[in-house]
Amino acid sequence: MTMLMKPNTNNQNNETRRKFIKSTGIFAAGLALVPSFSMASAKDKGVWSFLTGKQDDKLAVLGGKPLRTKAWQKWPIWNPETDEKRVVDTIRSGVWSRAGVANEFEAAWAKALDVKRSLTVANGTNALIVALHQMNIGAGDEVLVPPYTFIATVSAVLLNGAIPVFVDVDLETFQMDPDKIEAKITPRTKAILPVHILGLPCDMDRIMAIAKKHNLLVLEDACQAHLAEYDHKKVGTIGHAGCFSFQNSKNLPIGEGGAIVSNDEKFIDKCFSYTNYGYPYGTAVGTVSGGSAMLGTKVRTSEYASAIGLSLLKYLDAQTTTRNENAAYLKAQIAKTPGIVPYKLYDKVTRAAYHLFPFRFQKQNFKGLSRDKFLKALRAEGIPCSSGYTPLLEMNFIKDAFESKNFKRMYTKGELDYNKYLKNNKCPNNDILCHEEAVWFSQSMLLGSKSDMDDIAAAIAKIYKNADELNKMG
Ligand SMILES: *Cc1c(COP(=O)(O)O)cnc(C)c1O
Repeated sequence: MTMLMKPNTNNQNNETRRKFIKSTGIFAAGLALVPSFSMASAKDKGVWSFLTGKQDDKLAVLGGKPLRTKAWQKWPIWNPETDEKRVVDTIRSGVWSRAGVANEFEAAWAKALDVKRSLTVANGTNALIVALHQMNIGAGDEVLVPPYTFIATVSAVLLNGAIPVFVDVDLETFQMDPDKIEAKITPRTKAILPVHILGLPCDMDRIMAIAKKHNLLVLEDACQAHLAEYDHKKVGTIGHAGCFSFQNSKNLPIGEGGAIVSNDEKFIDKCFSYTNYGYPYGTAVGTVSGGSAMLGTKVRTSEYASAIGLSLLKYLDAQTTTRNENAAYLKAQIAKTPGIVPYKLYDKVTRAAYHLFPFRFQKQNFKGLSRDKFLKALRAEGIPCSSGYTPLLEMNFIKDAFESKNFKRMYTKGELDYNKYLKNNKCPNNDILCHEEAVWFSQSMLLGSKSDMDDIAAAIAKIYKNADELNKMG
């Protein structure tokens, strides 16, 4: 089966649709007249009809008909006709280790972000590890991080021998709360590591002002925030450096990949050396004894991964626009149902990336329905969804670092008192998001049509209407 040309179409569905139209001899405009037709837009059985009680469809989770059976957009989107030549040419060239294609991808990514330099590395995790290392962050240092993030943000701090200090999130935005940063600053604090989590920008004006006041570095984790903007500036380019991930689920997927971006060219030169055995910047791949400038590791990218990046980068801007349009529409639609509180963007956000679309599910306003039951019911209606992150402090990896040989040499026993650390790093808002309220839709769902968004909103309204019945089911 050939893959999709446009992100908002789906061959399988088109095929079914064509068959349907052929067999019934009616046009798409007539579909709304066929009430049992499962692929009809939810518009005609929309949010309001569910809320006002005109609709009494039984919930799918209780044996009723799913509101939607149509498939969602698959990810990644790959079209052999337009996307494959670059990759095939690269493979046939036999030059697979980093060289010209990687240089070209780096230049293209730097241009897309309007930043002086971009260095492509093996993945986003190592982008963070390398950037922190080249900011000279290590033993005895503290780095301020949000708790609501992917584990790699925090492991990157620990792997450099520094201590992550958690700054709780703002419930409305899901982002590190600027009001809570200063209370966490100590003489050991070296950097703030804001994460534009879910692809929604942090409050960068406030964060940069606090960093300036306290002479701290800012490293942005923009691994979920490709082309997101704060005050018309791309996130990842506002702090001293920014990190991106091109892992398969991310908005620009190349399998495994990452980038460090910065306007500080010397800094990127140093990062290049560190990721290339410590060889001086610009040393050609294949040079065996280029003479090491410094201690280095190797987390280079490959030519074919970069070729995939060049093939897919051309779609990113239009896809980002589609995600923004659909997110704004979906946000307005789902907010009509009680107990559904969509994310808030900071005033200066000019564009988000929507790696995920989040909202808060408030049980107390949703007839007391548990989030678990809500998610199950939503999935049964044909709407994929997730409860998102588990609190990082409930995992074992920080304790594991504290108990390591290296940490025991770098810190005193008191500094590694894990129970004390847990007490000082409590994040009640994060616990609420993780354990009670957060619900996510994936970025690829936002590449669909308005009627796809209507399906989501109608399914939520349908569950609200039938919540009492669902509650009775134990
Ligand atoms: C994906 C991600 C990373 C790590 O990127 P990889 O390419 O998977 O190593 C780091 N931080 C955040 C917020 C991420 O979402």
